[in-house]
Amino acid sequence: MTSAADLSPSYDLVVIGGGPAGLAAASLAARVGLSTVLFDENPGVGGQIYRGITSTPIKNGTVLGEEYWAGGALASEAKVSGAAIVTGATVWTLDPSLAVGVSIAGKARLIQARRVIIATGALERPFPIPGWTLPGVMTAGAAQTTLKAQGLVPDGRTVLAGCGPLLWLLAAQLLRAGVKIEAMLDTASRRNWLRALPHLPDFLLSPYWRKGLALLREVKAKVPVIAVDRLSAAGDGKLKEVVYGTGGTEHRLAADLLLLHHGVVPNVNLANATGAAHRWNERQLCFEPVLDDDFTSSVPGIAVAGDGAGIAGGTAAAERGRIAAIAAVRALKPEASVPDPQVVRQKLAREEMGRAFLDILYRPADSFRRPEGDTVVCRCEEVTARQVRAMADTGCEGPNQMKAFLRSGMGPCQGRLCGLTVTELIAEQRGLSPAEVGYYRLRPPVKPITLAELASLPIGEAERKAVER
Ligand SMILES: Cc1cc2nc3c(=O)[nH]c(=O)nc-3n(C[C@H](O)[C@H](O)[C@H](O)COP(=O)(O)OP(=O)(O)OC[C@H]3O[C@@H](n4cnc5c(N)ncnc54)[C@H](O)[C@@H]3O)c2cc1C
Repeated sequence: MTSAADLSPSYDLVVIGGGPAGLAAASLAARVGLSTVLFDENPGVGGQIYRGITSTPIKNGTVLGEEYWAGGALASEAKVSGAAIVTGATVWTLDPSLAVGVSIAGKARLIQARRVIIATGALERPFPIPGWTLPGVMTAGAAQTTLKAQGLVPDGRTVLAGCGPLLWLLAAQLLRAGVKIEAMLDTASRRNWLRALPHLPDFLLSPYWRKGLALLREVKAKVPVIAVDRLSAAGDGKLKEVVYGTGGTEHRLAADLLLLHHGVVPNVNLANATGAAHRWNERQLCFEPVLDDDFTSSVPGIAVAGDGAGIAGGTAAAERGRIAAIAAVRALKPEASVPDPQVVRQKLAREEMGRAFLDILYRPADSFRRPEGDTVVCRCEEVTARQVRAMADTGCEGPNQMKAFLRSGMGPCQGRLCGLTVTELIAEQRGLSPAEVGYYRLRPPVKPITLAELASLPIGEAERKAVER
């Protein structure tokens, strides 16, 4: 296990995130001789899609599906590439001078980089329905994480609700693991099909449609799938039932566990806190960094690769990591021989082909993104939709002012669970677009760190003299 003291003070390339994008980038750069370190906050590499790939207790290869096990090759490649792979390492700051603040086992270090690739992936989109903070309600991604990393499966009456490829994948994985699913409450509007139709030809040429069709068939064979247009979780102190609406009728379903999911969005916190420019992506309903063809951001020396650059999936993430790494190698070691970027770009284009169809087909409805009334929006500070809407009506212009007025986004998650909702509620109240309203301006530390960690930062000779004066 690498400790903070084992780290070199500087590296050619620092890669943040050990998912497919980070692993592919670190391997490529280290193999051609760049001094490379990869940091990932988890106990092992793999990111979201290949979580626990080097340590999962799941032995039955069919449960998680063949795509999961493909992550093993990426992890082994990185292990022998010459890159320093450091897990249990949380990056809490990155500044435009490419100084990286990282903590490992309670000890912090500031590392100097010549190039940085942010590969921090995606997060699940906030899904603020009434009762989503009740014990017994969690995200589908959290359930999948415990399945992949600990081999744990839900027991009791389990209901899945929402939309998006991940929800269907998890349903199939749980069924293969022997879990009984009471129902799948599908929140994707039927009208999305019509809007997605123009993108169907590309989707049929992409690797997604066969996998997708097989998943839908597998789940529908065993689970009642119900189209719903309203959804809430009810219970006194913990989940007792799921309340859903179909047209004008309300239904109640007894449940012990409700797994929510309606898509993933780029994890923008670190790139945002470096000051990198971001823009609103209307098709994916999220903010994403503004990047050039090599995934370089508006901050020189910092690239963003993988799903952190916009949602395109695990295989595309690895290709994006390679493109960003090739650009770093070309800048730092132009004589080195690297794979032909054109070939990598062609692979990436093929992987991205089906995305538009999926984005539109699984576009979450406005009502599920813009709650009303006492539904909690900011879980950290318990700020409700009513409060945010009322403050917007009194002229609060944007999320950063909302932070000052209501403390929304000021808790331990730093807006990861409320940022998009707050932006969309302000936009709706003020009749503006989310692009006009903007997003939180984030600052380091982007992950909570203790004072003891800060105090563990070694101080240089100059600072020591300054302190002693
Ligand atoms: C919960 C969840 C589950 C998913 N499951 C699947 C799946 O089963 N199949 C599928 O096809 N797609 C899945 N996805 C979609 C997923 O985004 C992509 O498939 C793929 O994992 C993206 O790869 P990436 O390398 O961009 O990022 P990721 O795989 O997300 O890897 C990013 C890594 O960076 C780490 N990290 C983030 N911030 C820091 C920091 N400050 N310091 C250190 N480390 C940090 C994260 O913990 C993570 O390990 C999932 C997404 C989510 C959010």
